[in-house]
Amino acid sequence: MSDILVVRTVADLREAIAEKRKEGKTIALTPTMGNLHIGHISLTKTARDHADVVCATIFVNPKQFGENEDFGSYPRTFENDKKLLADAGVEILYAPTVDVMYPDGFATNVSVTTISQGLCGDDRPGHFDGVCTVVTKLLLQALPDVAVFGEKDFQQLMVIKQFTRDLDIPVKIIGSPTLREDDGLAMSSRNGYLSSDERQVAPAMQQIMQETVKLARDADSFFEILETAKAEIIEAGFNSVDYLEIREERDLTPANKPSGQAQRLFAAAHLGKARLIDNIPLV
Ligand code: AMP
Repeated sequence: MSDILVVRTVADLREAIAEKRKEGKTIALTPTMGNLHIGHISLTKTARDHADVVCATIFVNPKQFGENEDFGSYPRTFENDKKLLADAGVEILYAPTVDVMYPDGFATNVSVTTISQGLCGDDRPGHFDGVCTVVTKLLLQALPDVAVFGEKDFQQLMVIKQFTRDLDIPVKIIGSPTLREDDGLAMSSRNGYLSSDERQVAPAMQQIMQETVKLARDADSFFEILETAKAEIIEAGFNSVDYLEIREERDLTPANKPSGQAQRLFAAAHLGKARLIDNIPLV
């Protein structure tokens, strides 16, 4: 295990990064909420391809959880996370407290219109404002050259690209592919909420999505294909489907039929205590 420096304040983070800058090194940031799995670690590998030093962050951000969501019970596994990051060669781990990020009197909100609406934006009101606010802070605190986010949260990746461009934040945002379990289930911290029976059911959503994109490629209209697939997800054992939609990859506008441009299928569904999301390209 290589050394990893843990910093908990903005001043210590800036000092650690300034040291690396003095050595002429470039910096990549990989924000996470901890409870790390191989998918998170793959982000640090993508980060390493784009910069000399990787700084991971762990912060369970209260602002991106809704009132009835799992902020209180979200798994906190700091020591294990730290070891995984150190083993992956991450040099700096920034793990601020809520007080550091949102001191008394904090009153600012970063909000993106258009692409934060629809999909997870509709089902989780305020979620993307919370994400945009915390990621803006992390980027301005660390001022990295690049920051890496998973395609698993494709809408989030697009929203982050949008506000960094709009606000002239000098950072390159890089997407990193979704890592999956052997049975196709996208890795997620929330998969741990599944019982063993639910874990057997979980890959069905992704399998149905794969079949759906095959049918959608040559369809005159997506409507019936999506309605059938939603019913299949419920039949497979999911409790409810928040959305199953095809959108243009460029700007996430809804798509009713093949457009000749890159399109993606997006899904969110509830299984037991877990809300699982996934997305895959049409071509
Ligand atoms: P989270 O800790 O869930 O907020 O995720 C932190 C980062 O890891 C986000 O950029 C996610 O998109 C990314 N991520 C989560 N799961 C995966 C996965 N299975 N494959 C790749 N990246 C992921």
